[in-house]
Amino acid sequence: MVKLLTYLDHCASTKLLPESRATIIETLDIVGNPSSVHGAGRALTTIIETARDRIAKASGATRKQVIFTGSATEAITQAIVAGARTLSVSEIIFGAGEHMAVIKAVEASGLETTSIALNGDGLIDLEALEAAVDHATAAGRLALVCVQAVNNETGVVQPLAAVEALTGPTSHFLFVDAVQAFGKLDLDFAASSTDMMAISAHKIGGPRGVGALLVKAHCDIVKLIPGGGQEQGRRGGTEAVALIAGFGAAAEAVSSHYDGAAIAKLTDRIETGLAKLAPNLVIFGAQSARSGNVVNFAMPGIIAPVMMMGLDLEGVAVSSGSACSSGKVGRSHVLGAMNVAPELADCALRVSLGWNSTKQDVDRFLNALEKVLLQHSKKRGHAA
Ligand code: PLP
Repeated sequence: MVKLLTYLDHCASTKLLPESRATIIETLDIVGNPSSVHGAGRALTTIIETARDRIAKASGATRKQVIFTGSATEAITQAIVAGARTLSVSEIIFGAGEHMAVIKAVEASGLETTSIALNGDGLIDLEALEAAVDHATAAGRLALVCVQAVNNETGVVQPLAAVEALTGPTSHFLFVDAVQAFGKLDLDFAASSTDMMAISAHKIGGPRGVGALLVKAHCDIVKLIPGGGQEQGRRGGTEAVALIAGFGAAAEAVSSHYDGAAIAKLTDRIETGLAKLAPNLVIFGAQSARSGNVVNFAMPGIIAPVMMMGLDLEGVAVSSGSACSSGKVGRSHVLGAMNVAPELADCALRVSLGWNSTKQDVDRFLNALEKVLLQHSKKRGHAA
């Protein structure tokens, strides 16, 4: 087992909350299938419905609007691929900095697509979005607009109210990937004019392998996974009851563990520390409202894999780009969409904090970074 001393990659996945863990363990041993009509089945249905209530409460949805899925990626794919098919959408308009789960689903839809660039601060270009929406309206085409709530690489909070003001009065559909916002920012799904929204358990302290699609009644989307009539006939397959229960427990408990103001102070501490270590530091999205738990930065001239490996040897886990893409180190499409120069984007590291992050974690990271930088400059000195 790898011994991790300092985990600062909470956007990739955060630590399980104790309430979630206890609920999962309690549920694992309960026998039965929630689709069975006997008492054992009904007991499991009750557990699922309790979790549904908790997710609904935490996201401002009604319980009927919550469909459990195997991940946010699945929820996203259902909204975009199955949704576009059922809702007679003929075009998808999406932010160029969306998570790859969204981008791949958009590609898989087979529909015409329009990508909207981000500005240098990581915000979606609202003028370009408005033009694309107007263009679809003028052409009599129904569009599905996909904009994330918070970017997973930069933590930049997208201007959803402005996006809703654009799409709300039209008959176009709006899908929001709220994976990095859920549990951190207030969501009010039922009252919003967002039609569909995806959330994930393991980003809030629930287990990996379960997510949810929040969907309004007028979006009667087809199933992505046919089969049984589970989840109000919207997602086939026997429910992962323990994971769903753990998701519900996490949704209920997260606000008592995740202290956004305290986390933001730790993030400030990181940024102050970084500025001392590297005078030519660049923090991406620094001028925008951010979720408060992410710092995506570059030290020009020092490429990310070198830093990441050095930090890893010091027992510090951070990432370059998003987790899904950091296995195969590639250039961030998010920074590309922000028009960041490729050689600077290659130096980008993401540090992300979670409910159990501490001042000690931050200081250990900064100390490790200082050490790695020193080693790097020594090596460079030798090479020169
Ligand atoms: N959307 C965003 C913004 C994410 O950060 C992630 C995970 O990294 C996902 C979607 C996919 O979530 P899941 O791991 O539940 O499939």
